[in-house]
Amino acid sequence: MEVEVSEIDELLVELIERVTGELGVVIYSMGIEGEFTDEQLAEELGVEINDVRRVLFALYEIGLASYRRKKDEDTGWMEYYWRINYEKEREVLRKELEKTRDKLSAKLQMEDETVYYICMNGCVKVKYEEAMEYGFACPKCGGMLEYLDSREAVARIREELEKIEDMLRMIS
Ligand SMILES: [Zn+2]
Repeated sequence: MEVEVSEIDELLVELIERVTGELGVVIYSMGIEGEFTDEQLAEELGVEINDVRRVLFALYEIGLASYRRKKDEDTGWMEYYWRINYEKEREVLRKELEKTRDKLSAKLQMEDETVYYICMNGCVKVKYEEAMEYGFACPKCGGMLEYLDSREAVARIREELEKIEDMLRMIS
């Protein structure tokens, strides 16, 4: 499967949007160089300072922003001087991809090792042992529990995993 550079950019935007919301994408896309305060940024964007702070701390959580604190001599308040860590985006993305990969691998193993039964009315998905206990009748609606062919699900997970491996190769 081919992975394009634009897909990596898209992935980064997706990640930022997921952890910060849309405002984070706006702020990140500004390409801000050097330090700034949340106050300056809020003013420039015409948004609430608390929203800017929330975004910046969320970016900080995943490693895409950092700050230093300095006491304002006049007011005595602590000022936060922020910077966006554009140089870390590949590293951050790699970590996120690795997390997703590990989750998918665990899921794949689970699907591979486990035989599931589902209610034909869509109420439940249970393991074989449980289905036996229920006498292959749905505990909710009484409908029949049927063997779930997981081959398709497994193939989908494998495909996703391959794509993630490709992306990881591309950004490392
Ligand atoms: Zn049912």
